[in-house]
Amino acid sequence: MSTAVRHSVCPHDCPSTCALEVEVLDNARIGRVHGAKANSYTAGVICAKVGRYAERIHHPDRLTRPLMRVGPKGSGEFREIGWDEALDQIAERFLAAATRFGPESVWPYYYAGTMGLVMRDGINRLRHVMRYSRQKKTICTASAEAGWIAGTGRFVGPDPREMAKADLIVIWGGNPVATQVNVMTHLTRARKERGAKLVVVDPYRSGTAEVADMHLCLRPGTDAALACAVMHCAFRDGHADRQYLQAYTDFPPDLEAHLAARGPDWAAAITGLSVDQIEAFARLYTATRRAYIRLGYGFTRSRNGSAAMHAVTCLPAVTGAWKHEGGGAFWSNRSIYHWDKTMIEGLDVLDKSTREIDMCLIGAALLGDAGALKGGPPIAAMLIQNTNPAVVAPDSYKVRQGLSREDLFLAVHEQFLTDTARYADVVLPATMFMEHDDLYQAGGHSHIQIGPKLIEPPGECRSNHEVLQGLARRLGAAHPGFEMTEMELVDWTLRASGWPDAKTVMDEHWVDAALPFREAHFLDGFGTPDKKFHFTPDWSKVGADWRRMPRLPDQLDTIEAATPDKPFRLMTSPARQFLNTTFTPTPGSRTREGRPTALVHPDDAERLRLADGDRVRIGNERGTVTVHVRRFDGLQPGTVVVESLWGNTDFEDGIGINTLTGADPIPPFGGAAFHDTAVWLRPADSPRTSFTPSP
Ligand code: SF4
Repeated sequence: MSTAVRHSVCPHDCPSTCALEVEVLDNARIGRVHGAKANSYTAGVICAKVGRYAERIHHPDRLTRPLMRVGPKGSGEFREIGWDEALDQIAERFLAAATRFGPESVWPYYYAGTMGLVMRDGINRLRHVMRYSRQKKTICTASAEAGWIAGTGRFVGPDPREMAKADLIVIWGGNPVATQVNVMTHLTRARKERGAKLVVVDPYRSGTAEVADMHLCLRPGTDAALACAVMHCAFRDGHADRQYLQAYTDFPPDLEAHLAARGPDWAAAITGLSVDQIEAFARLYTATRRAYIRLGYGFTRSRNGSAAMHAVTCLPAVTGAWKHEGGGAFWSNRSIYHWDKTMIEGLDVLDKSTREIDMCLIGAALLGDAGALKGGPPIAAMLIQNTNPAVVAPDSYKVRQGLSREDLFLAVHEQFLTDTARYADVVLPATMFMEHDDLYQAGGHSHIQIGPKLIEPPGECRSNHEVLQGLARRLGAAHPGFEMTEMELVDWTLRASGWPDAKTVMDEHWVDAALPFREAHFLDGFGTPDKKFHFTPDWSKVGADWRRMPRLPDQLDTIEAATPDKPFRLMTSPARQFLNTTFTPTPGSRTREGRPTALVHPDDAERLRLADGDRVRIGNERGTVTVHVRRFDGLQPGTVVVESLWGNTDFEDGIGINTLTGADPIPPFGGAAFHDTAVWLRPADSPRTSFTPSP
């Protein structure tokens, strides 16, 4: 059989959602994966880790048979069983839990291991039909969402392809070189063709910051102070667009006076940047009409992240940059797709009175914390798909303790024996994206795509949808969505949402759902009820913890500040070759990343007498983690970066980096402050280091 090149879509948790061309070697094997040249966003470019996807999909460690635990929880000791036995066991235990404690004692848990709508969100259909506990989805986008929606009212923005037409691109709190390479494609065009400048705002010199014209290396969690100072300069220097402010914003009468007290001196003391750096950035930004801010997630993973996101979205509202081609700010296009997910998620049977548990509080909830459990029954049984909370959830020592509970029944449907799967009672082998059909939207651009099944899965792997169908039959969960094939669900959802049918989308490879210019630039009004951008958002409409939010854009003093006992601030920025823990098992990624490493400023390293390669313990009240040191002058003294995510078992003692991060929700809506952690740092052989045993 000769090699065929087939269309597909990258399913991973990355806003680029690349259009792919896959070399299909036969009915079970692929070769190289390429970016589709004809797609105007992907433009033929994908990241290296997906280019070499064959090493992941054909990995010898893939799970291929259902497993039943035979050793202690977490031991990874299993025996192979058949699918019927596995599904019967899960159904029996779910029914037993519901009989004893009520249906809310069963908590299906998932996230974005695949972004395919059918495979990712189908678990909610089972949840809703069975009245199992709901999941508040906070782990990734919640804090950014809250900050964005507060001012703009809608998850849309100027087309990211317009970056190629900008004269200034500001990458704020993101590292597209590592996490969405296509942004670099479009901004590079602007640099080459228009001489555009690139500014990166990031607390460390990431791969993107390395190639920038200006890198503002501020302290973690101080972004709102920088944004306020730039707005201060705009008003001070006559660059505020007062006509735009009057026409398109709520322009509160006290905004100018509020910002007058937040100038570069004030911001320099908070951010650690120099007054000159802030003034230089303010001059560049406020004088450029086509100034495009691409907002990342990094700066929102802080206890003041939602407030910071809102403050940054205020910048183009002050200068009026929103109205120019190549100007404004962009975070996500998720509102342009207007999906009807009734059939995928069983929204027609959703009962909003069922308990909703914050997914970031999984550790506390499993350990019986009444607040996390919302006063309801204990969690007695779980099915986990598409996520690896033993590693990725904050306060992960508690998560592992919770997953170790002997009275918890845990089923995990996975592609590899992840740290989470090791705690399971039953492990089910899962397909990868080229082994099933699914439908994709792109947060970082505007294309709807279908990724069809291209090859047969290895062994006995089944898709998420097939597993849910098997469980529904055993549990008596009736819903038309369980009777449909994956492609029928795709087709139904496309048609119900007002898009072309599945065949048309397949034939054309994608549908560009981009908004017209005026709508994308909010020229007919923002998404708020009064159609104005809000400098003074009604935070009570955004989240329950709204009383802590500032009335006007401001630096919110809620971060986990350094103390004499914990003088460092830790960030767990994404490693270039990993993506959450999806690529942690692949040899190409592991070799390039090396080992878990702390980037430490040379002054701090000198003081602690740490040389490159030394082992160091990083700790706080949540636990301790051991890593190796690399001296790095691309951050401020007092900041430490451990690029992530390595699995727990990749660390000494099996204790991963999220042991240190807190799960307390970011106001006002929630979210995990992964880059907002106060820690101490000590040489690993110091007698003052403590040790938290892995459960
Ligand atoms: S850049 Fe993102 S969407 Fe594109 S192939 Fe890589 S992980 Fe997938």
